[in-house]
Amino acid sequence: MFDAPLPTHTRVLILGGGIHGVGVLHDWVSRGYQDAHLIEKNTLGSATSSKSTKLIHGGLRYLEQLREMGMVFEALRERSLLLHVAPDLVHPVELLFPLLQKEWTSTWKIQIGLTLYDRLAGRAGLAPHKKIPLDQVKKRMPGLRVDKFSSVFSFWDGQTDDLGLVYRVAASSVQNGGSISQHHRVERITPSAKGWCVQVRTPSGALQEIQAQYVVNCLGPWANTLLLDSNLPVPYQAINNKGAHLLCRDIGLTAGLFLPSLQGDGRIVFALPWEGYTLVGTTESLYEDNLDDVHIDAQETQYLLSVWNAYFRTPFTKTDLIRTFAGLRWLPLDAKHSISKTSREHVVGETRIGDSLLLTLYGGKLTTYRSLSEKIGNRLMQEAGENKPSRTQDPKVWVSKERTPQVPPPADRF
Ligand SMILES: Cc1cc2nc3c(=O)[nH]c(=O)nc-3n(C[C@H](O)[C@H](O)[C@H](O)COP(=O)(O)OP(=O)(O)OC[C@H]3O[C@@H](n4cnc5c(N)ncnc54)[C@H](O)[C@@H]3O)c2cc1C
Repeated sequence: MFDAPLPTHTRVLILGGGIHGVGVLHDWVSRGYQDAHLIEKNTLGSATSSKSTKLIHGGLRYLEQLREMGMVFEALRERSLLLHVAPDLVHPVELLFPLLQKEWTSTWKIQIGLTLYDRLAGRAGLAPHKKIPLDQVKKRMPGLRVDKFSSVFSFWDGQTDDLGLVYRVAASSVQNGGSISQHHRVERITPSAKGWCVQVRTPSGALQEIQAQYVVNCLGPWANTLLLDSNLPVPYQAINNKGAHLLCRDIGLTAGLFLPSLQGDGRIVFALPWEGYTLVGTTESLYEDNLDDVHIDAQETQYLLSVWNAYFRTPFTKTDLIRTFAGLRWLPLDAKHSISKTSREHVVGETRIGDSLLLTLYGGKLTTYRSLSEKIGNRLMQEAGENKPSRTQDPKVWVSKERTPQVPPPADRF
């Protein structure tokens, strides 16, 4: 299903089979076009899009920065949409936000933040936030050291299987007429008289060319490398912010938790029930190493274990780790802010040669992949002088659970 032969010509060529690549393909074919193809060098979703915290969320902590308000609003709208179109893949999850004893003065801040979060979600939102008495939290999570907290707030967000979502969107794209070639690596893009000429390395090692009028570069952390290798201008600088997670045995968490880091630096570690496991993450650090070999290091593992062990009587050690994984947040560079405060908002760079347009995506979130893909589709519509609307909000252009093919997960998944 995802191993279509390479076309020699296509109107839209999408590079990269993460959530954004498949999202752009789905958007395009949902408009009623079939002239789009996607190329992925490994398997779909095998990079960042299977290494996330798996939350479909507005991002409560982004509300600390007023400039992120629009992004939170958009993400909350997308959250309700995904809960609607893929209810078997995206489901509500309760999250507990505890305040440490010494942080009692921040109670009003979190109250305001959660009220705003509820309001931004509007009527389509999930249950509103509430404060939970500490003895109730203790009953629900006997292993949690509740004595560390002055108060605990509960609110709801969405949770997903990120890789499952990539495959669902990809399968929906193929059903609507798109085509995908996994295990093909894009080597170079050059302008030609007929548009862009994209050189692709096939699994046999041969080089094949595809002519495309529009190219959408959704290579995430690899996006600028391709442009530089192709001697094309780089529209934006970006940085890679590495995040790592631990997947541990299930300890019966009935809700997710925001655990404040021990350094008092405002960082948060999530502890989430996920698919019968406990997911603990994430770290944040600038990454400038090999993009094809991103993994958690000993220090990150130690940091996550120590945060968990500070709050839970059931300690985790390295022997409890079922799997670890790390991914890169590819963020448009914002020199004025620290790495955890660099905006998660996206930008789309444009490179034009004659009538041919190359769009390069920077930033983005799993949660907002659909609306961002729609914006990219709208830009292509404008460029083509056509006006077919995106239909990805309509469950009819989605394959249902039963029709999603059983695709083996990437080998390193568990
Ligand atoms: C630690 C962490 C936690 C996160 N948590 C959340 C969260 O809870 N909620 C949320 O909404 N977002 C979250 N995000 C953000 C979200 O995961 C990313 O925004 C999203 O997955 C990026 O997808 P992408 O398609 O842009 O990139 P990728 O998934 O990286 O896809 C790029 C693809 O391009 C392919 N590729 C690269 N080079 C070539 C080439 N030359 N030829 C062909 N293919 C190539 C790669 O193999 C890859 O599959 C998180 C991110 C990280 C890192």
